[in-house]
Amino acid sequence: MKIFNTMSKKKEEFVPINPGKVKMYVCGPTVYNFFHIGNARTFIIFDTVRRYFEYKGYKVSFVQNFTDIDDRMINKANQDGISIKELGDRFISEYYKDADGLYIERATANPRATEFIQDIISFVSDLIDKGYAYEIDGDVYFSTEKFKNYGKLSGQNLEELESGVRINVDERKKDPMDFAIWKTQKDGEPAWESPWGPGRPGWHIECSCMAHKLLGDTIDIHAGGMDLVFPHHENEIAQSESRNGKKFANYWMHSAYLNVNNQKMSKSLNNFLTARDALKKFDPEVIRFLMLSAHYRTQLNYSPDLLESDRSALERLYNSIYNLENLLEKTNMDKLKDGEKVYLDNLNSYRDKYVEKMEDDFNTADAISVIFDLVRDINSNLGIESSKEIIETSLNLIRELGKPLGILQKSTKVNLEEEIEKLIEKRQKARKEKNFALSDKIRDDLKAKGIILLDTPEGVRWKKA
Ligand code: AMP
Ligand code: ZN
Repeated sequence: MKIFNTMSKKKEEFVPINPGKVKMYVCGPTVYNFFHIGNARTFIIFDTVRRYFEYKGYKVSFVQNFTDIDDRMINKANQDGISIKELGDRFISEYYKDADGLYIERATANPRATEFIQDIISFVSDLIDKGYAYEIDGDVYFSTEKFKNYGKLSGQNLEELESGVRINVDERKKDPMDFAIWKTQKDGEPAWESPWGPGRPGWHIECSCMAHKLLGDTIDIHAGGMDLVFPHHENEIAQSESRNGKKFANYWMHSAYLNVNNQKMSKSLNNFLTARDALKKFDPEVIRFLMLSAHYRTQLNYSPDLLESDRSALERLYNSIYNLENLLEKTNMDKLKDGEKVYLDNLNSYRDKYVEKMEDDFNTADAISVIFDLVRDINSNLGIESSKEIIETSLNLIRELGKPLGILQKSTKVNLEEEIEKLIEKRQKARKEKNFALSDKIRDDLKAKGIILLDTPEGVRWKKA
């Protein structure tokens, strides 16, 4: 399996620290609001990476933090007149609702920064003791010049970085690139007692500390959105490697943005759609399909039309599943027929192609194309004369290949029945409004799916052709 490592800027063969196991840490959301579908892209991508490892039989320890203390948390809590604990509790619970709604598997652990304050304090103390950090008036800074590899992830060196810094930096710092790992309390801010007086942790330190506490000195994969490469992940490396004396992560994975009009979707630009609102209009599988229809390292421009076309693309796949399920009910051929053995090999070749795409740095876009090729092949080769075994194998293969992507797992029974009822309602409305073109089109579309409408004294009923 090949993974593009941001550290080496190359695709590298994946070799786990412990055979059969993957230790993975993904930077999670700041829990001050509902998350948007830009955040969701990153969550869905790494959920897919995890699911694929599981598909391959790996045991995955998947840690994703909740940042529940930072400026945004403090401002929002003050604005709402509640404590940051209440704010965090509320939006963690909202996070789970939306993430579950998007079929994102629950992490092995979702540590909250505020629950690791004592560990963070001892992490900071260790850095001071080892000479990597210094305290000034209750603030503690990491000394970047002490860490000789500073800049290795983002491919910059300290001099270049320093020259890019604006003049109005905190003059108490020894170097403009030094960053706060502990912040002294300001008016109106929550604080915890520490050897440097009351204060709170900086953002970067929470991930270094919790990744170490839950996964150990070195992890297999550290991941997050592209915006985290610098400074967040650069700073995490500096802190972790200085304190633990070990390589922090073997592979660094970064997902590209979901954009709107070629600008990053973000709260600050006010160009966002919350996952909650997207889920009101679209099936979760349609949203996942969108996010996985481009390679995770290419930017994806969001538009509502895109979701509409993904909805019909996914429907084509479901129609095939639905037809296969119907065939399965009708066939009376139990045993594989002559000629079908060759077709079984043909089916397995699609699995091989799919695996090849996924193992090429998780090329989900091409993996989805393989599923379409498979479905096209099945549609033109299976029919009422096919045996039960070949129908079942085809059906199971479509579902198997959908699973790591978190799609094609639904029962078509519920799906289609609901959909048919909705279409019948829409047709009735069209007829009332004398829009016969639309009502005829709906009847024809249903007929194409093998659904016949019957006008009965009790209203419109339907049956399978
Ligand atoms: P935040 O809550 O802003 O700290 O973001 C949580 C995660 O979502 C981080 O991994 C970010 O890199 C990621 N993220 C934020 N905005 C986008 C976007 N527009 N597209 C993809 N990922 C994003
Ligand atoms: Zn982080």
